Amino acid sequence: MDADVDALVVGAGPAGSTVAARIATAGHSVVVVEEHPRVGFPVQCAGLVSQRVLDLAGSTSFVRTAVRGARVFGPSLESIAFRADEPRAFVIDRAGLDIYLADRAARAGAEIRTSTRFDAVEGESDHRLAVRLRGPDGEAVRVRPRLVVGADGVASGVARAFRLRRPVEVLPAFEAEFPVSPGDPEVVEVYLGRKFAPGLFGWWIPDGAGGARVGVAADADGTPARQYFDRLLEFLSRRFGAPLTRATSYLVSGIPIGALPRTHARRVLLVGDAAAQVKPLSGGGIFTGMRCAELAADVANQALARDDLSETSLAEYDRRWRSEFGEEFRRALYLRRLFTRLSDDDLDRVVRALQGAHLAATIVAFGDIDFPTHVARELLRESPGLLRLLPKAVGAWVSPGSYRAPELDFRSRRK
Ligand SMILES: Cc1cc2nc3c(=O)[nH]c(=O)nc-3n(C[C@H](O)[C@H](O)[C@H](O)COP(=O)(O)OP(=O)(O)OC[C@H]3O[C@@H](n4cnc5c(N)ncnc54)[C@H](O)[C@@H]3O)c2cc1C
Repeated sequence: MDADVDALVVGAGPAGSTVAARIATAGHSVVVVEEHPRVGFPVQCAGLVSQRVLDLAGSTSFVRTAVRGARVFGPSLESIAFRADEPRAFVIDRAGLDIYLADRAARAGAEIRTSTRFDAVEGESDHRLAVRLRGPDGEAVRVRPRLVVGADGVASGVARAFRLRRPVEVLPAFEAEFPVSPGDPEVVEVYLGRKFAPGLFGWWIPDGAGGARVGVAADADGTPARQYFDRLLEFLSRRFGAPLTRATSYLVSGIPIGALPRTHARRVLLVGDAAAQVKPLSGGGIFTGMRCAELAADVANQALARDDLSETSLAEYDRRWRSEFGEEFRRALYLRRLFTRLSDDDLDRVVRALQGAHLAATIVAFGDIDFPTHVARELLRESPGLLRLLPKAVGAWVSPGSYRAPELDFRSRRK
């Protein structure tokens, strides 16, 4: 006999476990399936998050260390740096976050099944979908959910099964963890330019235990991300005067860029990377995925209570998350397009133009890793030199408008 369930959540990442906890808390039955044997593994993330993630999780148990500043290197290795008095971001144990959130979902009543894959949707009858899963021994297992939530990451099989369009771009990424690394333990480093990472950037992130996470995400121009990673590693070894060796883990993954035109269909919602709810300027998706998962759960709870899981009813989810993040994503995509057109010389000029102490203070005052277009706007306003380097269209972009990033209570904000 097939098991009836209100909601089937595919994927026990941060988005899946967040949506599952909130639907279960409302009293609906929830099954979460995770294809890997252990939630949180393999880790596929640099684990740099804002205070908002800790707030959404309601815990700091997985925080490794706080970060107060950043140094951004241009292609010719000139750099800009800023440092705040208070923590601006947190380096987390990413597996720890996933495990914590899955436990929270289980405590709320969700059933978590590991080593279980979403396979296919076989049909719909009696207000339910017929879904085929693959259990731990490869056996077919059937469930009959009223709603499926695809939280299954960048390569979402749920999105494919429901013929929902995929992201505009998927940037290949390569990262390794090193148990020992010199460098400032409170500052992240970012590397720009075609040499290190065309299309996005390379990073060095202190791990809070004397080591670092080093990675790149770069345009898929045929060159494997690994090649850019090796180049960055070579540079870091020279910079620190000691080779980075004995990597404890490697990860190869992809970052979806460009939100989908639609993240719902009849009896289905997509959340997190499956919905490409990722910040286009940084590739970070934990905060946005978790927050959109909360919104998805709220819409799901109402729809389940009314037993109206039609496309029209679930369209409310698209409306809600786009009203929170749509404008930021649109602006960030615009800036990203501009960024990808800059030559290495242009990037060096931008880095030089940002080197004034006054602009560093602006970054400290307005820098917000979840809403980066806000600080970009302030910088462009304050630095006419920068504007001269960029196309005229940017002038219109910085002109006064109603859009504002949500306040974070940075004590040193100047306005
Ligand atoms: C190199 C790299 C570094 C990153 N660094 C950061 C960072 O510092 N900060 C940040 O905010 N974001 C970062 N991100 C992005 C972040 O990792 C993602 O946005 C985030 O993990 C998305 O969460 P999610 O729950 O949507 O998906 P995921 O975390 O990808 O979880 C999806 C889950 O679904 C499971 N799954 C997939 N298919 C199936 C199936 N058919 N059946 C069952 N289970 C399935 C997977 O095993 C996985 O556990 C980084 C990404 C990469 C690639």
